[in-house]
Amino acid sequence: MRVGVGGKTVHSRFVKTDAIVLNSTQFGEGHKIVKLFTDSRGKIEASAFGARKTKSRFGSKLEPFTIINLLLYRKNEESIFTIRDADVRYQCVSIRSDFSKYIIASSLIEPVIKFVERSQTDLKLYHLLSDSLKVLDRLVPEKGEYLLSMYDTKFLSIQGYSPDINTCIKCGSVLVDRKSYSDYNNGFPLCNICKTNSSTFVNEGAYRFFKWAKVHTIENAKKVKMKDSTLVNVREIIEHLYLFTFHSTPKSWKQLKECFP
Ligand SMILES: [Zn+2]
Repeated sequence: MRVGVGGKTVHSRFVKTDAIVLNSTQFGEGHKIVKLFTDSRGKIEASAFGARKTKSRFGSKLEPFTIINLLLYRKNEESIFTIRDADVRYQCVSIRSDFSKYIIASSLIEPVIKFVERSQTDLKLYHLLSDSLKVLDRLVPEKGEYLLSMYDTKFLSIQGYSPDINTCIKCGSVLVDRKSYSDYNNGFPLCNICKTNSSTFVNEGAYRFFKWAKVHTIENAKKVKMKDSTLVNVREIIEHLYLFTFHSTPKSWKQLKECFP
């Protein structure tokens, strides 16, 4: 037996870690492959034998959005992890029973599934996602899109998209009267001269939101107030930033638009 950094390694074949359940797929007779975002190993997959059986020892612990502590096992570095034991740290009860929150939660985890590399430890992102899920679970559903927009801003920033909001991203000049534009070819913010015919004007409220979201923690989502037209503007700019950064947007946004027209 060997105790590693932070006392986390019990044995080289065993790993104890906190994790967020992203999703799971069925395999074989009552088993599951669970996609996890862990605090110590980044994004990984693990098999859970018997997880779909009615009397499974895992119960609902391996449902999406659950924050758990796991004991994982694998024979060697090449083989897939097996879940030996799971303890719930936080069960998102309200997210699982409220459809609009469920859609928001899906939009929180999808960028991690889609755009984050496997096995890359990222504690900042881990805490952003786990905090966002916990805050969403307690939030009034009407504020869900504000939380998502704060999350998206921070997610993009962790992935390297964190422009100085006071200057044009293309030419570097200081924005006059905070007037800025955004498009998916160049990102945000663009000045009056660098904007193109396809650029969207960023309204005062949306501009203030991005500035504010950069420096406030996700717990502050409940304090956000904005006009519907500003929220539409904010979501449009975030869409530009995903397209600019990843050339793609999360699929769950389609349901989001149906749920929050
Ligand atoms: Zn410019």
